[in-house]
Amino acid sequence: MRCDFCGRSQREVDLLIPGLNGFICNECAEKANEISREYLNKINESALSDIDLKNLPKPVEIKDYLDQYVIGQESAKKYLSVAVYNHYKRLSQNKDDVDIEKSNIIIVGPTGTGKTLLAKTIAKLLKVPFAIVDATVLTEAGYVGEDIESLLVRLLQACDYNVKEAERGIVFIDEIDKIARKSDNPSITRDVSGEGVQQGLLKLLEGSVVNVPPQGGRKHPEQKMIPVDTKNILFICGGAFEGIERKIAMRLNTQVVGYGASNHVSKTEREKLLHYVAPQDLRAYGLIPEIIGRLPVITNLEPLERDALRRILVEPKNAIVKQYEKLMLMDGIKFSISDDALDYIVDKAVEYKLGARGLRSIFETIMMDAMYSMPSKKIKKFELTREYAEQQLESSNFAVISTSL
Ligand code: ADP
Repeated sequence: MRCDFCGRSQREVDLLIPGLNGFICNECAEKANEISREYLNKINESALSDIDLKNLPKPVEIKDYLDQYVIGQESAKKYLSVAVYNHYKRLSQNKDDVDIEKSNIIIVGPTGTGKTLLAKTIAKLLKVPFAIVDATVLTEAGYVGEDIESLLVRLLQACDYNVKEAERGIVFIDEIDKIARKSDNPSITRDVSGEGVQQGLLKLLEGSVVNVPPQGGRKHPEQKMIPVDTKNILFICGGAFEGIERKIAMRLNTQVVGYGASNHVSKTEREKLLHYVAPQDLRAYGLIPEIIGRLPVITNLEPLERDALRRILVEPKNAIVKQYEKLMLMDGIKFSISDDALDYIVDKAVEYKLGARGLRSIFETIMMDAMYSMPSKKIKKFELTREYAEQQLESSNFAVISTSL
């Protein structure tokens, strides 16, 4: 018995695998595997979808799409639409022309105002791989936590480890403020989750070839790495930057200086301040200048007012009210909600300081009993009134739960 590929006999190899008309040894099988992988990779590369600008959504169309899901946040939506469109342009540019550089974005805004929602929504529309990652788990190499390179694992997963595709993708890094330097003076104690991580991130933002551990997490020596060139990857960063208003105020030289003082700034004044967020403020907050230099586009999200919260309940394409209409219709029940019931839900979300995130949990609490009993009843319609909402929410232990949220 011999291998039909290399001709070696059974004694000369570890294993002979029988086929229909002959044998293959383990070494030849491995070689064949390698060859077929290389071939398939080549095919994948040449199958890279060519970006044809004419067929791509224009910034106005991208924003129109975002409008269907995200309420308000006009400026952030505009910035994002332009950034994505320009990203496509860069990818389809003529290589020997003027080099269009990428403009990574940073979005500053309070939590629960739609950062992740914006990122997720835009992902649905994109023609390039997209991944959302969290900066909180990152630490400097050598410490407990994840290496910076693991940010790219998700992107690779989003395109089945097709490296060439990943190299033109978009990464949304959430909670970037969590890697800000903890104090302004470089101290003797090490800041393993702050500046060191920023230095690492800088490498990615600038564009370089980095070795990504295929499974993510911490790199270890025996692991096979996947080299990924980040030159064409667009980075969108988001963070709450809590308290950054104080830095903005200081820079603008208003009277609001010092800790106690900022408490006296009225809420509206604080919101307005966020409009003026500039690179210097991010620096004062603890991002290193090199990182800020690589995030040339800054935009902000607005805190959601009552009016916006009310619209979130009913207007987005997948608004919670629309979802319940659909759920009930499946049981043949027509669902409606009165205006004052909507007001009540918004009031409660504001009262418990839960913002947009709270709308859903309040709504679900109110609807629980009805969702439980209605499918077995022979009714054709259900109107959610304020009285019903009040009664349901008060009889539940929502107030107790929400204070511990
Ligand atoms: P964050 O800014 O903390 O990333 P999210 O985007 O996760 O906040 O928002 C939490 C939830 O609140 C979303 O799933 C969405 O249902 C709702 N929401 C927040 N902001 C908006 C908005 N501007 N328009 C519509 N829904 C929103």
